[in-house]
Amino acid sequence: MKANESVKNYESERRMYANYVLRGIKKLCKEIGPRGSGTEQEYAAQQKMAEDLKESCDEVKIEEFDLHPKAFMGWVQLVVVCAVIAVVLLFLTHFLPALATVFLAVGVGLIAVAIFFVITEFLFYKETLDVFTPKAKSHNVIAVRKASGEAKRRIIFSGHADSAPEWRFTYWGGPKLLVPVIACGFLGLLVTAVFDVISLVMVLGGANPAENRTIFVFSIISVCFTPIFLFCLLFYDPKRTVEGANDDLTGCFCSMAVPRFLNDHNIRFENTEVWVVCTGSEEAGLRGAKAFCKAHAEEIKNDGVETVFFGLDTVRDFDFMAVYNKDMTGMVKNDAQVSELIRAGGALAGYDLPFKTVSLGSTDAAAISQAGLKGASFAAMDPSPARYYHTRLDTADNLDLKSIEAGVDIVLNTVFLFDEKGLNV
Ligand SMILES: [Zn+2]
Repeated sequence: MKANESVKNYESERRMYANYVLRGIKKLCKEIGPRGSGTEQEYAAQQKMAEDLKESCDEVKIEEFDLHPKAFMGWVQLVVVCAVIAVVLLFLTHFLPALATVFLAVGVGLIAVAIFFVITEFLFYKETLDVFTPKAKSHNVIAVRKASGEAKRRIIFSGHADSAPEWRFTYWGGPKLLVPVIACGFLGLLVTAVFDVISLVMVLGGANPAENRTIFVFSIISVCFTPIFLFCLLFYDPKRTVEGANDDLTGCFCSMAVPRFLNDHNIRFENTEVWVVCTGSEEAGLRGAKAFCKAHAEEIKNDGVETVFFGLDTVRDFDFMAVYNKDMTGMVKNDAQVSELIRAGGALAGYDLPFKTVSLGSTDAAAISQAGLKGASFAAMDPSPARYYHTRLDTADNLDLKSIEAGVDIVLNTVFLFDEKGLNV
């Protein structure tokens, strides 16, 4: 059975569920507002989502996990401190040549530490900074609408319940400011690293930094990057959490619309289980999705039920609807069959969804793929990024009904398609 054959007047029904998404987001934003990772507000929002899901699902539970919410973005401050100290030490070699070897070795060490944390925390979402930051509790909501017979397939729809701290550069100037600042910051780090290493080699080879022109020029160029490094400290505002109406309450509520639609129309698949997972702490480095995998990946892999994960992250920009088959700044490949399934669901809804890569950052699907489960994600988001992305402009007044309706249409078409054909689409 296809989604549009499942009920009479599918078009008007589809609009009804898009309105359910819209109303749900507006209500939650009004009642709870911003929901930082691992905060009471995040949990309160998830409790409300769980209440909603209890009306359409057979089992709803909230699972708790530990995390260090300040660790994920902590690399920004750490890199700035390390880079600035390295630059100052490089500059000082000119005046204190006797200490040049020590200064340069310390500088090289600090930059190595900085690069290590950029790569592990930011590029690979590893928990390397966790030990240096305070612990907190976060949660995942897991809801199951069972099959009427033996479960042979399982599809998990998922969005994240938390919202991000504001990215100031995006708010102040959009991508025109954000992209150059990030580029110059990393360029500065690279230049300082290269100059530090060359200077150290030169000093070890007998050069005197008090007289050596090359080392002096290196230090002056590095010093010029210092204002950019310091400016990068303003990258995000830990005191202002955004409302996150689009990112990612649209993902949560579009997911929740699936069992609601099925329940309202007394549709129960014979062999397909439908799950909704509203993760916590995605903005703190996919910690909810990681916790979900830690708790359930083995069981899912071994229970013989063919399982797919359909992540939704920001359903706002109609012209940018896409299936993300590559994730985590291009470092993680999402599942090809699930990507194809979502694309086929989109085609049934009348959309030609392109495959895209999450070019900076990640979606929860990456954690799912890393855990060896089959997953991919869908988003309708201008990747430049849009001005509302992680800013105070991401409010309930800034939702787009047309995109939400398309999102609802795509999840509904996908669930019916998966029930009918599994991954052979
Ligand atoms: Zn998001």
